[in-house]
Amino acid sequence: MGQSKSVRTEVLIVGGGTAGCVAAIAAAEEGAKVILVENDTALGGVATRGGIHRYYYGSPGGLQEEIDRRTAEAAAKFGGKTKGFHPDAKRVVLAALCREKGIMFYLDSVVYEVIKEGEKVAGVRALTPAGRLEISAGVTIDSTGNAHLVRMAGGRLRYGRGLDGVYHNYSFIPRRVLDGEIGYDNLDAGWVDPYDPWDVSRAFIRGREWVREGYAEGAHYFAVSSMLGVREGGLIEGDVTITLEDYIEDRPSPEVICRSYSHLDNHGFDTGNESEFSQLWIAVMGLFVKGLWCDIPYGALLPAGIGNLLVAGRALSVDRDVGMGVRMQKDMHKVGEAAGVAAAMSIRTGSAPRELDRSGLQKRLVERSVLEGEELQRTHGRNLRFKRGGLAGVELGKENAASHAEQLAHYFGTDERWKAVWLLGSSAEAEQERQVAVLLESKLYEGTPEARFCAAITLAMLEREEAVPYLMERIATRDKNKLSNHPKCVPFWIASFVLLRMLKSTAGVSQAAAALKEQPGAVHSTFLLDYLSAVCPVLSAGERAEAAGAVQMWLSSGELGMDYRMHGDRPESLGWSLELRAAALLASLTGEQGGVTGWAASAAADPRGYVRNAAARLLPWSEVGMPDKEEAAPFLGEFDIAVIGAGTAEVICAAALGRQGRRVVLIADGSALMTEVTRSRVTYFKGLDESAGGGAYELIDLLRQEGAWNGEQLEPVLVQLAADRLLQNAGVSVLYEARCLEEQNAEGRSLVEIAYKNGRGLVAAGRIIGQADRAGVMGQAVPGTLTAVLIGSGSLGETADCRWMEWSHNGNVLALRIRPSYYPDEVYLDIRWPLEAAEEGDTGELLVLPAVEKLRNLGVIPDSAALAYIADEPWPEGLCAAPGTSGTEPEENFWIARQISAGLDDAVIG
Ligand SMILES: Cc1cc2nc3c(=O)[nH]c(=O)nc-3n(C[C@H](O)[C@H](O)[C@H](O)COP(=O)(O)OP(=O)(O)OC[C@H]3O[C@@H](n4cnc5c(N)ncnc54)[C@H](O)[C@@H]3O)c2cc1C
Repeated sequence: MGQSKSVRTEVLIVGGGTAGCVAAIAAAEEGAKVILVENDTALGGVATRGGIHRYYYGSPGGLQEEIDRRTAEAAAKFGGKTKGFHPDAKRVVLAALCREKGIMFYLDSVVYEVIKEGEKVAGVRALTPAGRLEISAGVTIDSTGNAHLVRMAGGRLRYGRGLDGVYHNYSFIPRRVLDGEIGYDNLDAGWVDPYDPWDVSRAFIRGREWVREGYAEGAHYFAVSSMLGVREGGLIEGDVTITLEDYIEDRPSPEVICRSYSHLDNHGFDTGNESEFSQLWIAVMGLFVKGLWCDIPYGALLPAGIGNLLVAGRALSVDRDVGMGVRMQKDMHKVGEAAGVAAAMSIRTGSAPRELDRSGLQKRLVERSVLEGEELQRTHGRNLRFKRGGLAGVELGKENAASHAEQLAHYFGTDERWKAVWLLGSSAEAEQERQVAVLLESKLYEGTPEARFCAAITLAMLEREEAVPYLMERIATRDKNKLSNHPKCVPFWIASFVLLRMLKSTAGVSQAAAALKEQPGAVHSTFLLDYLSAVCPVLSAGERAEAAGAVQMWLSSGELGMDYRMHGDRPESLGWSLELRAAALLASLTGEQGGVTGWAASAAADPRGYVRNAAARLLPWSEVGMPDKEEAAPFLGEFDIAVIGAGTAEVICAAALGRQGRRVVLIADGSALMTEVTRSRVTYFKGLDESAGGGAYELIDLLRQEGAWNGEQLEPVLVQLAADRLLQNAGVSVLYEARCLEEQNAEGRSLVEIAYKNGRGLVAAGRIIGQADRAGVMGQAVPGTLTAVLIGSGSLGETADCRWMEWSHNGNVLALRIRPSYYPDEVYLDIRWPLEAAEEGDTGELLVLPAVEKLRNLGVIPDSAALAYIADEPWPEGLCAAPGTSGTEPEENFWIARQISAGLDDAVIG
């Protein structure tokens, strides 16, 4: 399929996202020849393509300052108000910077294989729109966010939380205008296993359902992100790992490359399923929003046992709890910049990344303002420093915690209580422990409720049983006091079970069992189950029977977990997790694994990959199989027919075949269906040829039901929902973000080899319809028409005029036109460039800003019009007539209808 080509570069960046773009620009600035490969059709990753266009925490400095300045300038020219930064302004600036620095970038291209020489990464294999590409490189940077390259190279990763392997919630984000401001809904859509292609596909569909349900009143939704907002994937095992202690105490690292600043932004509200530390920090202490500084050491970018590979982005080598904080965009920019500089230095000096002179790297990073010089001299952490430096002029720290226990305990009554608890509770020496315990015992019954509870926490951290009576009293009185008002902080009586668990005390078993019987709701139930699971091995027979009875009763009590709400107050049942956890506990309490086979069987058949993963961890004796994440090309299923492509014709064809009772899979290279409409914005649709078969009318009905068609124009976001439903109704499976690599015939059936972000997979099908090669994709020398969405006041639609106007730009004759959209306050700006004007690696997006300026200067669009969105792909080649065509009915008038007919024809042949 397509041609096969080889190229060589000095530095190769895989993943043109948050960290990867900055890595590429930095490496090029440092003199290296750079190639960048990105799966999406535009650069920027989570920020520009995932819809998260605002900074949250993070540390300043480095190249990002220039990127942000230029993004703000471009946004001002685009017009309008944006919440945060303008994602498409940033997209354009990143593309412009890459062009200016001479970086060769391949968009819409996926890396599916790593080429190794011994332990070293020597290059990769990628699938681009023009065919296969083998890239060999001196140094490679894995900036895929999920360490996909490290996995492909056989490196070790840690996946998700310890209990059940679940990652933070993912988001799937729509963009909209509300009160005149361009923004987004950062909704948490549930959970996903980013390494399981079927689970990723399911997550797209589920995410879109949430989008529609969550439409804010009065808002105008104009796009949905092109990629899932995956917050967390695997974390690499690197030469150096940032531990929790390093993080909280802000321990100086001798090989620091930049600093990070954030809070431990754990998106799970089921904190009782998280690590002991998370429970303590977030639920007991209420410290969810506490900002912390941390050194990022160079060794955290080096995957253990693999040479010539650096990791930039959120998959760094950190403890899982730390990963909740070390991932914000600003910090990832800086990690990317450091990785780019290191890679270029490695090429220049001829030393492998692992052998690189750390002080030389640090010096350069200081010169680039990625790192402040004084950080290299730092001997103490910033996080645990008290506001006034301590009492009586003494700097209180871990080393003198025992001798200043009295002073430290004074802080239990202040908002700096957590520092004192940490310093006292984590002091390890036997002598210190005794001293501290004496102090705390005397404090237990003095002071405010908060101070007393802090004393109990400290005792629990030191594993001192003296805390137990006090904790039992909190439980007996159902003490509702809390250490913070944050919704993730739990009342003392629930927090007491966390502390009893740390103390390995069985004193609260009867109370936990009684509380479970009262149906305390999903979130509190996680803490009670966690406590009982932890103490289960040491329970007496009587205690086991009591606990088992309560768990059994609780499990049979109807709809579990329906009161669980995610960030944004979106309900998503936690029932699956509660059931699995309780079933595993029940089996341990009774010693009868057979009693939970029902739950095991339903978990094994669950369509959600993350649920199957969780079941495999929680019910390891059962038949639930954990997917083999390291398998080179997993088998993805057997079908009668595989339809390749996600255009309107393919969607209609797949639906018609599915309705005939065939097992059909549709293989879509992006995240959307009916791509002419949803990704390219061909939206004129006046009707169907009368001869078109009945299947097409189901689509029309669905479009009407969704409100996706006003008789003339299609509304792309809603069209996507109608297309999802069409295929679901027809029983068609859809594999998103999957490209066809190769087709082989074997024993009367075809095997389609698929390339996706995570590597390769195999689909078997009796017959294949469609072809993988596509025309008119970005990043290639093709003629095209790129559409941008402009929004303004209600009368903006009146400015639409479908006539093409000639536009002379950089010595080329291009064409522009404004045409109407579904909404009266929105128009489309089409920019067409002919083949002669296209360069290899051309991105039509660079034409958008000058085109908007030109039309504004001519008065064709009013000053109030603002660029909201640049389409994901140029229009399919051949659709757009030459400039000079006039009239109010553009030539795409019947395009969708023709595609529908073509799809039905294919289905008849199929
Ligand atoms: C929903 C959500 C909300 C967030 N909110 C905020 C916030 O408000 N503020 C903030 O500062 N941070 C926020 N974050 C965190 C931050 O945005 C991310 O942690 C950060 O952007 C990750 O950067 P990255 O470079 O590691 O990954 P990405 O930006 O995801 O980049 C990875 C890139 O690699 C590409 N890729 C992957 N595999 C391949 C392959 N095989 N071949 C080619 N390309 C590939 C992907 O397409 C992608 O473009 C949020 C994150 C999410 C998901």
